[in-house]
Amino acid sequence: MPIVHRPDPCSSRTVVQLVRDALLDAVGLLVPVSCAGCGAPDRAVCAACRAALAPVPVRAPRPEVESWAGLAYAGVAARAIRSFKDEGRTDAAPALAPALRAALASACASSGRTAGLELAAVPSTATARRQRGYEPVALLVRHAGFRPTRVLRARERADQAGLDRSARRVNADGAFAPVRRLDGRRFVLVDDVVTTGSTLAAAVRAIRSAGGSVDAVAVLAHTPLRIPVDHLND
Ligand SMILES: [Zn+2]
Repeated sequence: MPIVHRPDPCSSRTVVQLVRDALLDAVGLLVPVSCAGCGAPDRAVCAACRAALAPVPVRAPRPEVESWAGLAYAGVAARAIRSFKDEGRTDAAPALAPALRAALASACASSGRTAGLELAAVPSTATARRQRGYEPVALLVRHAGFRPTRVLRARERADQAGLDRSARRVNADGAFAPVRRLDGRRFVLVDDVVTTGSTLAAAVRAIRSAGGSVDAVAVLAHTPLRIPVDHLND
């Protein structure tokens, strides 16, 4: 995978994060749970739902950003992702990670780059991070075997879920700010779910505003569009 790991892997911040991730995983292993995909008892994600989460990488073109997705956001995948993001089910991350890995592989292959890419995760707002106790995208990235470079900070804003298309665009505008100059650096941008693409487009703009570039975009899942992508900007 043509991605470089820039941050110092031994930094105290990284160690704290890894310990926290391990604890979150351990909670999922020790406490009897129901399947995050179908609700069957005693398993993090049951065998049938794991099979339903097998990656099917597809291009997920949106007006301002073209991404690759590992899953369609529907059925078992949608339920497992909602459980993972909104119900504290961090134990579902290992079952979701292969789809993100597949999306990353497809995104990197389509970018034509063979080296020099860093991985940037779309960040949560500070409020969302406090409420959840973890960052879903960064946690998924680590379960997929990579470590994101922190390049963006999320400004506080309303949750995109529940907003219509034009409201999402307005809400996402200016949603992110670069944490430092990124001159000459190239990124694969990663998010969990792409719907209209407005969040990803805002993240791409923030990286470009700091002198960086986004060569490819990978998401865990895409929301299948009911209307042609050409009409999304109407
Ligand atoms: Zn299940």
